[in-house]
Amino acid sequence: MKKIIVYGELNLKNNEIEDVTFELLTKAQKLTQEALKLNPEEKYYTEAVFSASYLLEDEIKKAYKAGADKVVVIKDSVFDTFYSTVYTNAFLEYFEKNPSDIILFPATPKGRLIAPRITAQLNTGLVADCTEVEFILKNNNVVFAPTRPTFGSELMATIISKKAPYCATIRPSVFKAEFSYKDNGEFIEYIPTSYHEDRIRLVRSILNKDNNTSDFSNAKVVLCAGYGLYDSKNEYFDKLKKLAKITNSKFAATRKVVDYNLVEQKYQIGQTGSTVEAKLYIAFGVSGAIQHIQGMKNSKTIIAINTDENAEIFKYSDYKIIADAKKVIDDLLNYFDIN
Ligand SMILES: Cc1cc2nc3c(=O)[nH]c(=O)nc-3n(C[C@H](O)[C@H](O)[C@H](O)COP(=O)(O)OP(=O)(O)OC[C@H]3O[C@@H](n4cnc5c(N)ncnc54)[C@H](O)[C@@H]3O)c2cc1C
Repeated sequence: MKKIIVYGELNLKNNEIEDVTFELLTKAQKLTQEALKLNPEEKYYTEAVFSASYLLEDEIKKAYKAGADKVVVIKDSVFDTFYSTVYTNAFLEYFEKNPSDIILFPATPKGRLIAPRITAQLNTGLVADCTEVEFILKNNNVVFAPTRPTFGSELMATIISKKAPYCATIRPSVFKAEFSYKDNGEFIEYIPTSYHEDRIRLVRSILNKDNNTSDFSNAKVVLCAGYGLYDSKNEYFDKLKKLAKITNSKFAATRKVVDYNLVEQKYQIGQTGSTVEAKLYIAFGVSGAIQHIQGMKNSKTIIAINTDENAEIFKYSDYKIIADAKKVIDDLLNYFDIN
């Protein structure tokens, strides 16, 4: 039987499994079904592999529910601190004895450090930042076919590697986690023996008080500022931030707004920013460039406010409002009595 490994990521503060791992497990489980449909001989199972000093039973159960047939913990207290080469070497040791045909990595800061190290050592390719992974039939063979944006997202490229294991990184929120698979599965602990120490030592951790990240992972409502909000007084980005605050929404922005230094990079949504899957996404003066759409298209309801009735964003919107977005912001602030 063939195998898809999902490289599992934990929150090292409490060893809880990060959401992106569940998303990849659900996708991996769906891939096993896809392969069978294309060819009943193509039988795959899914394995979630974590490096950790421990993993609580409830977390392991959630992994089965999300789509894991088997959970593996490569166990050592050294994993309480993230050292990329230690994590890499431990995984490689495990993988040498327990190889798989496919490895899915999260395209998180940690995953982006580890995936290229692992694939370089395995002398195989890595398709990074995929927005889709599927099996397709090629010359009557079932092949793993990840897709990613290319040429500044003007094109989507499906890239079929020549060599196994076939590896891809996938960003958080690209796929949806579903917790409906099963309650139990196989579990093993693997004790690594020969991994090398990292040459980097963690001396101390300092909390970044500037809070350089904006967490969009659980954002329900997102208000996104586009360049259409810019004017000589430059007051509407702050006004939209204010509106986001009082409505308990998340403020976001396009890259153009960030590139012009109108708001900080942490707010950027899109191919080179964060991905959101909000219940409601409202775009204020956003044109709808494909690189931006990549980061918000999975939102449930999309409302766009734009003065140009032919704006590209309207193609992706459930509701279109052809209006001056600044006036809409003023009206909403007046409604909440804070203008
Ligand atoms: C490699 C690469 C990566 C990129 N990554 C990203 C990314 O991650 N995220 C991202 O967002 N972009 C990204 N971009 C940039 C992207 O191509 C666009 O340039 C950008 O998204 C445009 O931002 P915008 O919609 O705010 O501005 P514009 O394209 O200038 O659009 C402004 C819109 O506002 C409308 N407007 C003007 N005045 C008003 C008003 N008063 N009321 C209402 N509407 C008004 C206009 O009709 C227009 O549609 C990337 C580009 C490249 C090449």
